[in-house]
Amino acid sequence: MTDNHDPVARRFHATLLQRISKQGSKELKMSLRLFNTLVNDKQDFVPLVPGRIGLYVCGITVYDLPHIGHARFLVAFDVAARFFRFSGWQVKYVRNWTDVDDKIIRRAVERSEDPLALGQRFIDECRKDMASIGVLPADVEPRATEHIPEMLAIIQKLIDRGHAYVAQGDVYFAVRSYPDYGKLSKRNLDDLLSGARVETGSIKRDPLDFALWKSHKPGEPDSVTWDSPWGRGRPGWHIECSAMSQKHLGETFDLHGGGKDLIFPHHENEIAQSEAASGRPLSRYWLHNGFVTLDAEKMSKSLGNFKTIRDLLVHWDGEALRCFLLSTHYRHPINFTETAVADADRRVEYFYETLAKAESWLVQKKFAAEAKPLEDALAGFREAMEDDLNTADALARVERVYHQLNARIDGKGKPEEVAALLATARVTAQVLGLAGRAPQQAILERRALAAKRMGIDSEWVSERIAARLLARKGKDFAKADLIRDELSAKGVDLRDGAGGTDWRVLL
Ligand SMILES: [Zn+2]
Repeated sequence: MTDNHDPVARRFHATLLQRISKQGSKELKMSLRLFNTLVNDKQDFVPLVPGRIGLYVCGITVYDLPHIGHARFLVAFDVAARFFRFSGWQVKYVRNWTDVDDKIIRRAVERSEDPLALGQRFIDECRKDMASIGVLPADVEPRATEHIPEMLAIIQKLIDRGHAYVAQGDVYFAVRSYPDYGKLSKRNLDDLLSGARVETGSIKRDPLDFALWKSHKPGEPDSVTWDSPWGRGRPGWHIECSAMSQKHLGETFDLHGGGKDLIFPHHENEIAQSEAASGRPLSRYWLHNGFVTLDAEKMSKSLGNFKTIRDLLVHWDGEALRCFLLSTHYRHPINFTETAVADADRRVEYFYETLAKAESWLVQKKFAAEAKPLEDALAGFREAMEDDLNTADALARVERVYHQLNARIDGKGKPEEVAALLATARVTAQVLGLAGRAPQQAILERRALAAKRMGIDSEWVSERIAARLLARKGKDFAKADLIRDELSAKGVDLRDGAGGTDWRVLL
């Protein structure tokens, strides 16, 4: 797939989105229900301003290549934004880059590289991987280091209001000054305190307090140190998101998302800081996606069992990875196995094969009229998505449309019916970010990848196909069949057509 940040690709995505929103009916009233972590239940979603939606998602800390766990939240919220747009809503999607952090600094010092340069490098790399799995750019992609003045302003406000205090150049949030602390993660302060680590020589007034501002330590590079009223230093992690969400979406906005692992402490702390400073609710709905497990263990760097997106792209089509992630509801854990990705890969193959078949069938019938998607199928798709963005169900419904499309072609349906089903098949899959490439091209790209994965040499296949053709011309059908069997044993499926013999990898 193309790089989202290439101007041509951006234009392509803009038209795609326009097309998606045009095909969703503007007048439609959405009855979206979302599971809100704040109330621990599904709720009707009512936006602050009708027809508009402000969405903030905690992005990636840029010090390494993104892994499949990152892919999960990126795809989950990418689909959410696509679906809101499809429903005719005006979406402002903000997804940040955390480009100042202990891990970034440590990695940069290890490599004698400037932390900002290292961050920029990994932002570029992340964008490539995101494009490969069909994640569109967010409307705003703010960077923490570009929002230092906004962070300083919130910290000052918290100090002025008695919610934060200065200690030896650090600034801490006083957790006990905010009575609602724990409302997102449903924890109470006493339980938290009994589990808190006792830090010897701590300058914090309470073990639960967390850093808003960290004073400069010897050895930390200058490029990630800023002047503040409390001396030189850098922001704590949580305050970044409070500053960036407020700047781009206002003090109160509709939806905040992220992985389940961020509920505590990151999102709990974000709420505490933002709400204590503004006196208003931060986000009205909080959505959290489940983990990706590898052989049912949570994937983490410390366990050494994480897979980067880039590792997986060597063997798998990015769209297959995306389809794998969407085949489970975003809130549930998803177990990564090769078998599950292979299943998803076959689904993607089926989509493209069907689209290619329908397109050439319509060409044969000389049918070129614009067709509208089928309302009842769109309604079914919406129904699945409106139920807490149930992509597993939505995907099954999309697949049903593809089945119908195939059946209609094989059963000699009318061109008008086939064209309408084709339009439905395209638009619904594209809301999920699937089957958006030109089918013939996608089939060839995917075939090359599958051949590589299975150790099939394309030149050898061409050579065997030529030998088979020769045998058939000489009426040696036994030899021709033998060659077909030989290819089949290697996982190559031959398809004889009017234009000659084509082949696919048996997935
Ligand atoms: Zn965040």
